[in-house]
This record gives sequence, C-alpha cells and structure tokens, in this order.
Amino acid sequence: MKVLLVEDEPAIADTLVYALRTECFEVTHVLTGGEALDAHAADAHDFVILDIGLPDLTGLEVCKRLRESSAVPILFLTARDGEIDRILGLELGGDDYVTKPFSPREIVARVRAILRRSSSPAEKPGIAAEPGNGESSAPLTHDEATMRVLLHGQALDLTAHEYKLLLVFLRRPHRVFTRDQLLDLAWQDPGAVTDRTIDAHIKTIRAKLREKSPGCENLIETRRGLGYAYAP
Ligand code: CA
Repeated sequence: MKVLLVEDEPAIADTLVYALRTECFEVTHVLTGGEALDAHAADAHDFVILDIGLPDLTGLEVCKRLRESSAVPILFLTARDGEIDRILGLELGGDDYVTKPFSPREIVARVRAILRRSSSPAEKPGIAAEPGNGESSAPLTHDEATMRVLLHGQALDLTAHEYKLLLVFLRRPHRVFTRDQLLDLAWQDPGAVTDRTIDAHIKTIRAKLREKSPGCENLIETRRGLGYAYAP
C-alpha cells in the first residue's frame, strides 16, 4: 500500500513516516500541496494523508483538485478543532479527519479503517467525480447547517438513515458501493441489520426523489451484482 503524506511540519511528518513504515506502508512524504498533486499524478497512491494548513495550497484545495481525477481515500490532518475545516474537508470528498495533536498509532488505525471501508481499488476510471461538476449544477446538494439533502434546491424529507446513505453517495459521485460498504458507512451498528435493509432504504429514497421530480429516482443507480451508485 502506497501512502502519500502531505505535511509541512517535519516533527509530525517524521513520526508519521516512521509509524506507517513500521506497519509496512510505502510512504512518500511531500511538504506542499503542489508537490502532492505532482506526486499523485506521477504515481497513483492508495491513500493520501493531507494536512489542511500547507504553505502553498490549502489541504482543502488539494483535495478538491485530487477529486477531479481520483477517488483515492483521503484523511485530513487539521491543527484546529475547527468545524469549518472538518465540514469543508468531508464535503470536498475527504474520508475522515484527525485533529492535532494525535498519536501516530491513531493515524495508522484510521488509515486501516478507511482502507477496509473502501476495499475496491482507489484508482479506477469512471469512479472519480466529474471535473467541473460544481455544487450548484449538481441535482442533489447537501446543506450541512440544516442537515438536509436538497433535490434541485428543494429539501427532501428523509429519515436519519436515508440522509446518511445519501451523504455517502454525494461524497463520491459515480462510485459503486456494495451493500456491505453502505451498511458500514451509514449504520452505527451494521450487525443489527441485513443487506436487504439497504435495498429497502434505497427504494424509499428513490420514491422520495421521484415524488419531488419524476425521473430523478434514476440518480441512484443499481449496479447489478455489485451495489449502488449516485449518477448525477
Ligand atoms: Ca501544517
């Protein structure tokens, strides 16, 4: 597993590089956002650990640019316990975040958890977000403040699980999620439900989309034998 570590603070970077190599990850360490984009373009990594406060681009900007062509899992490092960073980071397609100070072991554990979750190969044509597909032009949008998902600007009336499921899809347009992955990502206790539960929830989500705008139920695609994907 090749990990790209983007961190400009040497002390933090050194301990992380050491911890990751000890766990047999192959680590490339860069100091700036520009170097990170170059490094990932030159050699696709399986995972990116991305500091938000970088000397050139912000980590959020780096994430946005990576997402134009890649669905690689991204873990943010943030110095502030800032809600803004967290929300923006996850909205832009980050997978998780950790607030400094953290223990290197915590980072390794998060990396493993995220890799388990996204068990399909990270770099695959057709699963990356569409370039230039801005928030405003997307049919479905997320309003974090009100915790609502909107279809063409109209709020959908969703249950908590329907909302969480839609968020999983929205963060990774076109990516196919298996039922197991969806259970893992949207249910706190996935053991208590079956994969039929996902099918039932997808059905009600589609009905709600259709009710607001006929035809929009097709935004959630069934990929036979695989799972579901959001296809804006
Ligand atoms: Ca920094």
